[in-house]
Amino acid sequence: MKSPKEAADSEPPSADYVQLQVPVIQQLYHWDCGLACSRMALQYLNHLNDEEFQKAIQELRLTKSIWTIDLAYLMRHFGVKHRFCTQTLGVDKGYKNQSFYRKHFDTEENRVNQLFAQAKASKVLVEKCTVTVQDIQEHLSQGHVAIVLVNAVLLLCELCSSPVKYCCFLPIGQKCFCRNPDYQGHFIVLCGYNKASGSVYYNNPAYADRTCSTSISNFEEARTSYGTDEDILFIYTDS
Ligand SMILES: [Zn+2]
Repeated sequence: MKSPKEAADSEPPSADYVQLQVPVIQQLYHWDCGLACSRMALQYLNHLNDEEFQKAIQELRLTKSIWTIDLAYLMRHFGVKHRFCTQTLGVDKGYKNQSFYRKHFDTEENRVNQLFAQAKASKVLVEKCTVTVQDIQEHLSQGHVAIVLVNAVLLLCELCSSPVKYCCFLPIGQKCFCRNPDYQGHFIVLCGYNKASGSVYYNNPAYADRTCSTSISNFEEARTSYGTDEDILFIYTDS
């Protein structure tokens, strides 16, 4: 990251209001929010071709457990310029006992650690770094989107009246037998912000028909929650 002084000297301040026209694409299952977000980003860049996308999923063996590193490989596959920032280069052992991660932990741990190890050789850009709200706003203000891993339990949209249940993906009103989890990993696509109202705009792949909005503080809470590794995948339009 650059120093604040450097930023003040060389960078124009980010715009006060940004809302990028990112298409909304809904996820099909409970596990494919990351793929839906990737489709939104690719469509935004005019790089989406359904047949190609299906082929890529098969080639990269993206099955029911999708990590942010998988999405970085997917962007690389399509030749899209990206930068994946995370707090953990690999799998955090501490997640082993969290219910969200427990199911496939051991097989996934090897697979994901390998992807991190091979990232550089595969031209997948991964960095251990801390990202600020200002960094995110600057990125958006240049017309670029980002895919962010959040804790869906904490992320509360100010526009949607009833929150979607992510645990088993049942429609509202049906009885769910899941235990209320503390953490539910979910990917969203950031597409804008409003400095005056302190809002962040994002497409939530749980919905087919809207762009959501929350406060910067709620977004930051959901994004930096334990379990996310503060994963954020910056995607650049000049790719
Ligand atoms: Zn909403």
